[in-house]
Amino acid sequence: MEHNSETCIFCKIVRGEIPADIIYQDDLVMAFRDIQPAAPEHVLIIPRKHIASFEEFSGEDVEVAARIMLAAPKVAGKLGITETGYRFVFNDGPDALQSVGHIHGHLIGGTRMGWPPF
Ligand code: 5GP
Repeated sequence: MEHNSETCIFCKIVRGEIPADIIYQDDLVMAFRDIQPAAPEHVLIIPRKHIASFEEFSGEDVEVAARIMLAAPKVAGKLGITETGYRFVFNDGPDALQSVGHIHGHLIGGTRMGWPPF
């Protein structure tokens, strides 16, 4: 798991060092298409700041956390899936299969999904 912002793959996307298909961005968050989509629409919403997990959010990150949630409907609107619906999922830790140590929400849609996810 990556805990270093210098080498973190998502921090590299934030810094523009590696390309990404950006769907939405503002001063606190970025949203870009997942490189290995798990559904017809699959966008990752991340804080620009390197926050590894929910446990690393502090009181000063309240606006960042809110912006991540506020970005979800904006992204869904750009993808054209507001009416059909979507899932917004965060994998945090090994049991949830988090593979990139920079917290990110998976906004997934464009198809009918199942539940529960295992
Ligand atoms: P996790 O497994 O941590 O919940 O999700 C990490 C996600 O990041 C995976 O769905 C994976 O496909 C995606 N991902 C990993 N590396 C890159 C990358 O360099 N660019 C983009 N756009 N997505 C990536």
